[in-house]
Amino acid sequence: MVIECKHVWNYLSDYLDDSLSPEIKELVQRHLEHCEICSAILDSTRNIVVLTADDRVFELPIGYSERLHARLAQEIESNEARTRKDSGD
Ligand SMILES: [Zn+2]
Repeated sequence: MVIECKHVWNYLSDYLDDSLSPEIKELVQRHLEHCEICSAILDSTRNIVVLTADDRVFELPIGYSERLHARLAQEIESNEARTRKDSGD
């Protein structure tokens, strides 16, 4: 089973909480090993969690998530287009 970036994004907060099932966690970990985009998101998400941990508040600015996802979707699209071109498929 292969999971896509958008699935990984849904799992990230649980991944950071270490509350994923072992199977899903392994899938996410494996994806993160080869996906720069999701690794970058994991890093920034982790930073936000660390920064806000003291206040016990974890609230993203309104619209943050939508904007982030829109940007990511764009990057993934161009990434996939590049990959298709490279593989000559
Ligand atoms: Zn990814």
